[in-house]
Formats: sequence, C-alpha cells, structure tokens
Amino acid sequence: MGLDNLSNSLKDAMKKLAGKTVIDRAAVDELVRDLQRALLSADVNVKLVMQLSQSIKSRALDEDLPKGMNVREHVLRIVYQELVNLVGKEAEFSLRPQKILMAGLQGSGKTTTTGKLCRYFQRKGLKVGAIGADNFRPGAYAQLETLCKKINVPCYGDPKEKDAVKITRDGLAALKDVEVVIVDTAGRHALEDDLIEEIMQINDLLKPDHRWLVIDAALGQAARDQAKRFHEAIGIDGVIVTKMDGTAKGGGAMSAVSETESGIVFIGNGETIEDLERFDANGFISRLLGMGDLKALVEKAEEAIKPEDVDVNAMLRGKFTLNDMYKQLEAVQKMGPLKQVLSMLPLGGMNVPSEALDGTADRMKKFRIIMDSMTPQELDEPSLINTSRMTRVAKGSGATVDEVRELIKYYKMMQKTLKGFRGNRMAMNKMMKQM
Ligand code: GDP
Repeated sequence: MGLDNLSNSLKDAMKKLAGKTVIDRAAVDELVRDLQRALLSADVNVKLVMQLSQSIKSRALDEDLPKGMNVREHVLRIVYQELVNLVGKEAEFSLRPQKILMAGLQGSGKTTTTGKLCRYFQRKGLKVGAIGADNFRPGAYAQLETLCKKINVPCYGDPKEKDAVKITRDGLAALKDVEVVIVDTAGRHALEDDLIEEIMQINDLLKPDHRWLVIDAALGQAARDQAKRFHEAIGIDGVIVTKMDGTAKGGGAMSAVSETESGIVFIGNGETIEDLERFDANGFISRLLGMGDLKALVEKAEEAIKPEDVDVNAMLRGKFTLNDMYKQLEAVQKMGPLKQVLSMLPLGGMNVPSEALDGTADRMKKFRIIMDSMTPQELDEPSLINTSRMTRVAKGSGATVDEVRELIKYYKMMQKTLKGFRGNRMAMNKMMKQM
C-alpha cells in the first residue's frame, strides 16, 4: 500500500526525536498526527487509525526506555510494532495437499488470482488443479481455462451447468489425483443473499483448508463490509490484496484483515500469472516507512545489549573501569559493524557521513585490540597505566604509544561524562549508546 507520503512525513517527525533523552509529548503528538494523516489518505478505516494512534501514544509515553535504545529507536520500534499489528501477521499456510476456496466480488481479481495461485503451488512442486465454479460471470471459466492451459494445469468447469455446487462436486471427482485444489467462485455485483447462500453450500461440500478473500487494493472502505459478510458466511482465514501495482492506497485491505481477524496471504502486483508475491509484514512495513530492515534492528538491539553486559549500578556509584568500557564496546560490536547497524536505521545514518562511520568503527576495534594487551589489573585500575606500561601495551597490540594514549584519554573523557550523568539513568543510556 503505497502510502508514499507516510514515509517522508514520518521521517521528518522522527528527526525531531533525535538526540532527545526523554520522550517529548509534543513530538509524539506530532508524529501521531502525521501518521494519522497518511493512513487516512490511504483509506485506512478511521476507527483503526484512532486505535493505532492511541496505542502508539500511550506506549511511547508509558513504557520504559529499553536499555541500550535511544528515544528515537524506542518510538520507531513502537510505531513499527503497532503497524505490524494493523496490517496483521502473514497468514500461514503450508505446502502440502489442500483445498482452497476463493471468495470475493466480481472484478476483484479472483479468477486471475486463482490462476496465479496454481502457478505458485506448481512452482513449489505440488500437483495443482482448478475448479471454475464461477458460472455467473460469462467467460470466467474460459478465462481460468486459458490461464491453466498456459501452465499445463488441469482445470474443471462446465459453463452450461447452473448449479455451482454440482460443478464443485464433479470437479473434485475429476481432479481426485491432484494435491492442491483451488476453487474459483462467483462474485456477482454485490453481496446478494443467494451469492452468500451459494458459497456457504460450496464451503460445506468442499470443506476447504483455507478460505481466502480476494480484495482489490483500490477498494477503500467498502472492503470492510465485504469482508464482514464473507467472514460471517464461511470464516475467512486469509486475505489476498490484488492490483497493488496500480494504487497508492490499499487501506481497505487493512480493514478487511482487521474485520476477519486474519492476515494477508498474498499480494497481486500485475496482470500476468507470475505477478503474485507472498506477503511479508516486516518487509512491507519497513518499505512503507521507507527504512531498512526494522525487525532485524529491533531484535538485534534487544539481544545485543543485555543488562548483565554493563553494570550500570557500579557506574552510577562512580566506578567505571576500562573493563566496563571494554564490555560496552563488545556489546556494540555484537550488533555487527557499526555501519551496518546504522544503515538499518536510516534515520540515524542520514546525518553521518560514511567516512565518519568507518572511522568510528575502526577506532572502536583498535581500542579493543589495545585493551586485549592490558593486564586484568590495568583494566580494573587504569591509573596504573604509566608511560612504560603504555609502551608495553603498544608493542603487544601493534599500536603506537599515541594510540594507547588516545584510548586512555577517551576513557577519562567517558569517566568524567559519566560522573556528570550520575543519577540520570536515561541520559547515561543515551551516552553509552552514542559510544
Ligand atoms: P474476477 O471477476 O474477480 O474473477 O476478476 P478477474 O480475475 O477477471 O480480474 C479483473 C481484472 O483485474 C482483470 O482485468 C485482471 O487482469 C485484473 N487484475 C487482477 N489482478 C490484478 C493485479 O494484481 N494487478 C493488475 N494490474 N490487474 C489485475
């Protein structure tokens, strides 16, 4: 769902959170307002947008800042998680023999998608067959047959037969050797009672493993009612959003997902039989926000900086040794090359020239190597390190004495800053992070 302007306005709003040590209510309000505007213009249901805004606001202001995260990352993570909730998880299915019932209104792209799904399962090495039970739209069966012929997949149908349930029954018999059966059904123009009655009967007969609803991405608010009716009738367990190649909207799909409490299974993004993409919530949101792989960043940050890595309390009491600094550098190191970490957070990366990043990463690496040549006593009591010790350490680590001196200088600067920060945990977290 294109939501093109969301990415930019969100980036601007997030920029305002940069460098903040405490969450600023006004900045969060502004961020949420931008988000609302973008989502509404993409046709996302008002109620959904309000729910999302509320949870982002209360989480951003109430939740404690996770260790090792700055304010901006904290808010970004919440926005990301709430958006993933909004579009739903990827709806699951497995690659084994199964029956799939396709639901949706005429013109939604149901027949085309049935063909695309045949191709998808065929590529996965399964024997596939289609049943054309849409005997309402003239030409629907011929269309499905043509698609299936192209990829050499059996297709059952009988355009003269008026009873769609009978077509399905006969189709199941004709395709008994097939592993994956996909049934295309009639959509008609609107949600008439006989349409619903018919699909319920097909559902009873077929006992499908999945009942997927096909929704046109440009549909908007009407998607909600459609989803509701179909869901009440047969229990939708996945949504396929078609024509994503042609619209910047698509909020309707989010409504359909929320109405059916299911998730998006596939995205249709073109007219050919190959134009079907497995939906991936993380990639989708990351792209939506115009950022790198946010999920990876969130997980990495959470696992890399564990509380036991850094003894915050000891530091608050004023003890900060080279050992502590070493642990911090190690924690940062675990997250991968600094450059890569920052590239996953393009907001942070934006203001930093890449040479500076390289320099920072190299510098840290060098510091660690130098510290590896120090004795445990020196690491615990840095004041022991006089000029002769510096010379020894330099030799052992392949560094120059000046570089060792620079490390000590850096350490003293950190120690001094820490003293200034004592009593202010949040500020300290931030500073450790900047290191
Ligand atoms: P049905 O009435 O639900 O069976 O709809 P069709 O399968 O006949 O599709 C209606 C129109 O939408 C056709 O012209 C399709 O080519 C087109 N269509 C379906 N899916 C997509 C898609 O993902 N992208 C684009 N651009 N067109 C699509």
